[in-house]
Amino acid sequence: MPSVKSYAAQSDSSPLAPWTITRRDPKPHDVQIEILYCGVCHSDLHFAKNEWGMTVFPVVPGHEIVGKVTAVGSHVKKFKVGDVAGVGCLVDSCKECDNCKDGLEQYCSDGPVFSYNGQERDGSGITYGGYSKSILCHEDFVLHIDDKQPLDGVAPLLCAGITTYSPLRHWKVGKGQKVGILGLGGLGHMGVKLAVAMGAEVTMLSHSPSKEADAKRLGAHRFVLTSDEEQVKAVTGYFDFILDTVSAEHEYSFYLNLLRTNGVMVCVGIPPSPAQVPAFNLIFGRKSLAGSLIGGLGETQEMLDFCAAHNIVSDVEVIAMKDINKAYERMLAGDVKYRFVIDMATL
Ligand code: NAP
Ligand code: ZN
Repeated sequence: MPSVKSYAAQSDSSPLAPWTITRRDPKPHDVQIEILYCGVCHSDLHFAKNEWGMTVFPVVPGHEIVGKVTAVGSHVKKFKVGDVAGVGCLVDSCKECDNCKDGLEQYCSDGPVFSYNGQERDGSGITYGGYSKSILCHEDFVLHIDDKQPLDGVAPLLCAGITTYSPLRHWKVGKGQKVGILGLGGLGHMGVKLAVAMGAEVTMLSHSPSKEADAKRLGAHRFVLTSDEEQVKAVTGYFDFILDTVSAEHEYSFYLNLLRTNGVMVCVGIPPSPAQVPAFNLIFGRKSLAGSLIGGLGETQEMLDFCAAHNIVSDVEVIAMKDINKAYERMLAGDVKYRFVIDMATL
């Protein structure tokens, strides 16, 4: 079994540090990828610090992976050596349940296999993510990447991109709709770009006054500082759709008040502790509160193609692997514009 250099957290209190993993021997349907760039998602930090109470240590995070195909198994049809390819949050699923058949592998009834901290379906162990030199993956879970786009900016599309694209599509966001994107971070900045490209009127809802100019530069038509009473009053009962990307505890009812009658708020951000939602805030105005998890493989390819056609990539700050712990601290402080991406040549 091949040994691969990586970066891992050994416990919830230890910083990420070099570690060597063994990947499985390639199977006939496997695509082997040399990782060029890996985005840094807030979920990586939640996992490394075991904030959701489900981390198996050591954990090698990273699920926004772009690289070059270096080998393909004998049965692989969709990729060849030299192709630019991507791997997102999913590396396997049962492929037989109704959800998998419907292209909703992320909701696989048997449990999807996540790129890291996931259980391999053959019982061979835990999966390790993209803070690593290379990865192996069944060809059905590998994405085609347009190599004309800057690859560091494409990497975050594999999670931040699809996580925002999927609910915008599912709830048919488009022209004539008033959309609020809550939280301007990795997911939020992709949400703004995508909702604008889909034709919606987009408002950035942020608790950071310093982000107003950037929100407008990213394409938002309006900026609302959520701590400013007057600004909030002006958008109370206003939105058809709110996409909530906030990673920390916050009051859902406060934002439900910003929806108009029949409005929908979709949570994609996953704060570590559960929130309280008063029924009143949903009942008055027949409002819906929903959730959404990444997206299926077909939809992820559709999103990548949409981004290539609309010239959309993530705004990134490329970092060296050794600076990952500093990057986590800066992410917690809201100091990232708007996604850290690791240059894997530095590992
Ligand atoms: P991020 O880059 O750190 O952005 C989070 C944003 O939340 C911040 O930029 C900030 O925006 C806002 N925020 C932070 N603390 C806040 C507070 N105390 N009150 C109000 N707003 C606050 O994180 P990310 O990578 O975009 O991830 C966001 C969340 O989505 C994480 O919980 C992550 O685990 C989750 N996630 C879910 C899925 C899924 O499939 N559902 C996929 C990927 C990630 P402002 O400064 O503009 O307020
Ligand atoms: Zn992610």
